[in-house]
Amino acid sequence: MEDRDTVRGEVFNPATGEVLGSSVTFTTEDVNASIDSAKNAFLEWSQTSARIRSVILFRAASIVREEQNRLSELLTSEQGKILPEAKNEIQGFANILEYYASIAGTISGYALPKSDYGYAFTKKEPLGVCGAIIPWNMPVLIMGWKTGPALAAGNTLVLKPSQKTPLTTLKIAEIMKRAGLPDGVLEIVTGSGDIVGGAIAKSREISALSFTGSSGTGAEVERLSCGTHKRLTLELGGSDPMVVCSDADIDMAVSGAVSGRFFNCGQTCTAVKRLFVFEEIFDVFIGKLKEKTEKISVGNGLLKGVGMGPLNSREGLFEINKIVREELDREISVLTGGNILNEGQFREGNFFEPTLVVNPRENSRLLRDEIFGPVLPVVSVDSLDTAIDYANKTEFGLGASVWTKSLKNAYSFSEGVDAGIVWVNKHLKIPPEIPFGGEKSSGTGRENGLSALDRYMREKTVIISP
Ligand code: NDP
Repeated sequence: MEDRDTVRGEVFNPATGEVLGSSVTFTTEDVNASIDSAKNAFLEWSQTSARIRSVILFRAASIVREEQNRLSELLTSEQGKILPEAKNEIQGFANILEYYASIAGTISGYALPKSDYGYAFTKKEPLGVCGAIIPWNMPVLIMGWKTGPALAAGNTLVLKPSQKTPLTTLKIAEIMKRAGLPDGVLEIVTGSGDIVGGAIAKSREISALSFTGSSGTGAEVERLSCGTHKRLTLELGGSDPMVVCSDADIDMAVSGAVSGRFFNCGQTCTAVKRLFVFEEIFDVFIGKLKEKTEKISVGNGLLKGVGMGPLNSREGLFEINKIVREELDREISVLTGGNILNEGQFREGNFFEPTLVVNPRENSRLLRDEIFGPVLPVVSVDSLDTAIDYANKTEFGLGASVWTKSLKNAYSFSEGVDAGIVWVNKHLKIPPEIPFGGEKSSGTGRENGLSALDRYMREKTVIISP
């Protein structure tokens, strides 16, 4: 595909506005050809022993670790996140491959008691060709969430990265080939969502599709897949609440809120997007929060000492600015930030100040929608019940956290909040072995852990009669 005289889409560096590289713009026919290659590769890969599949995945993880510096720089340059976050993401990818490589050989069914018909057992089998559609915010980690379980289970995979961030994905796919992955086992298809993503969603050759992206596109993918009988996993948007009770460790909660919101410039599905603080500690809390937020140094993520990079796209930047300006028209109180940065070193990039907004009105977009950027609304609440009411007032149900020393608060919050994952005294961290996913408009199905592996396998029952 790379050798052909094809149309290519440019990839921009969000910190400098410069063209960083390009990727091939696949047509529907190209995608279908990749699906055919994956189909041809399936028999051999599914019959390769789990031990050999594991060896290849371990080897790929090891090369990714060896080349993490080069890969992290490329990821920062195409996505915008700061270098330490990019390194974490590359290591996170390797962690996921290693986790699934380590359990591939343990995949098994179970024996059933003897019945009137004889003996029976179940076994787990791969599904065939699977599909994956990936967003631009965590392109490498999410590639791992899908590649690890799909390939460990013996499937082949056709994966579409976002056209904004295909470059690191393509490099990692090359590494996986170098590690011994046979041709066709992992096909990367680049290009636009409607053509390339649409072709994957509509294909009858794809048995399961794991999509990560916004809730709106997720609904479109459901519509396009309708009637193809593929198994859908949808990891969609979120508007995670974080609740800080009066007995919380305030300094720890302030740090959790700052990293939870401003990590990846606020562009993370499970970022802290709404903060509810008990009124008894509100003033002290927001004083410390403001101080810590104002210490974040914004800039090109490749530079040392920078704590937050640019937003990934101009559209994203303008959207955040529009939301904040709308709120300002309603005379909300901006505690810090609130503006685009566009002078000097910031001129060509997509930079926005880390922003705190205090007590926006109840029907504000900041408390209702998914805000994908560095803006955090903080609301004072009089009790845990009020906080849970607020927390559940959006269409989303991805993550949620409560910060407290009280087991009773932790218990009541985890019972009452609508979320796929609940943290106590933490937010955002999800290791490979822990399943997570969303409820309501945040999606269906789970990534990570054994739950994700199950999404890529079918259970077959065998009954042996005498
Ligand atoms: P989008 O929904 O815009 O895009 C996601 C992917 O879908 C991209 O590869 C895109 O292609 C593709 N796509 C677009 N249109 C279609 C279509 N009609 N059919 C099939 N595929 C299509 O999301 P973003 O890239 O903007 O990512 C941000 C969103 O992802 C946020 O809402 C965030 O919360 C969510 N997310 C959820 C996670 C979770 O685990 N729940 C984790 C991370 C992010 P292209 O852009 O190349 O045109």
